[in-house]
Amino acid sequence: MRRSLSLCFAGSAVIGAAVSITAGASRNDASETVWPADLRAFTSMEPVDTHAHVFKVDSDFYGFLRRLHMHLVDIVVATKGEGDFHTLDTKIEAAQAFVKGSNGQAVLCTTFDPFKFSDPNFADDAVRQLNRDFARGAVAVKIWKNVGMELKDQSGHFVMPDDPRLEPIYKDIAAQSKTLIAHLAEPDSCWQPPNKNSPDYSYYSEHPEWYMYNQLDHPRKATIIQARDHMLEENPKLRVVGAHLGSLETSLEEIGRRFDRYPNFAVDLAARSVYLTLQPREKARQFLIKYQDRILYGTDLSLYDRQNTATEEKEWEKQYATDWAFFSSDQTVDYRGRKVQGLALPPEVLRKLYHDNAVHWIRGVLPGSSN
Ligand SMILES: [Zn+2]
Repeated sequence: MRRSLSLCFAGSAVIGAAVSITAGASRNDASETVWPADLRAFTSMEPVDTHAHVFKVDSDFYGFLRRLHMHLVDIVVATKGEGDFHTLDTKIEAAQAFVKGSNGQAVLCTTFDPFKFSDPNFADDAVRQLNRDFARGAVAVKIWKNVGMELKDQSGHFVMPDDPRLEPIYKDIAAQSKTLIAHLAEPDSCWQPPNKNSPDYSYYSEHPEWYMYNQLDHPRKATIIQARDHMLEENPKLRVVGAHLGSLETSLEEIGRRFDRYPNFAVDLAARSVYLTLQPREKARQFLIKYQDRILYGTDLSLYDRQNTATEEKEWEKQYATDWAFFSSDQTVDYRGRKVQGLALPPEVLRKLYHDNAVHWIRGVLPGSSN
């Protein structure tokens, strides 16, 4: 999901001793990325962005990642018609090429083809392909919202995430000690009347096919979340990272309830940190402290062959700097047009959010961290 971001702190007095690391940028340039002074506190953690989509091999981009000490989980998603790619396999190969060129800076999260669901050997074939990708270094598997919202079985019923026909795949991922990254369901706003103030408004304007408010023949959110929870319960040995705050982005209580109930469940922040900025500051802060072992930093940033690397790097860096200012400092941060006070999380919590939890929940995410 792409969106334009701006990072403008409320004047230089707010940011204090700001440090710019954008080469050649003028300090007066409005598009300049300004990091809080403690950039070294950021890079020394060896931060992990556990949710990115990169399909371009470009030495400049590797240099960008190395400069920030940023590690990536590069996620492949199976969509209907593969967009820039001919087949799912060519998409996986493009991600693999990026990972290979990164010298350990990125790892692959592969996926299976859900649209082969009605093939007689669906699960066997999926398991074989996943095991092939694990042998090539993949550390995780993505399941996407098309399960629950788009995919139908032979009898015309929507396939839910707890469908027994998916079980052999879950069992295999657990047996191989890999992680399932589960983007299931969508934000609440997907099922609500159009609201220009919603963080997701532009996404549904651009992707009306995923906007469910008027698609009454499609499953409701509660049905999908219930099936996701049932899958968690049925697979206690499977590590599951619920992408996008587990699609429970508006209710920290609901997320906490799942953490309490399912020890195999964590969430990533990809494209949903903005929802934490909408919570009362102290409530968001206490939530991140209470569940400091269960939340992984991620962005949902992407880079495709057709995109200009330098332009995209600016977007990436702004996102990283904005998020870091929000989580680490108590300064005023402009988060997508709203002024919010940073959460000033304790250093040990920041370290878990940006590094330790990625290592624990996604085994093998860093070279030499496989167990
Ligand atoms: Zn994503």
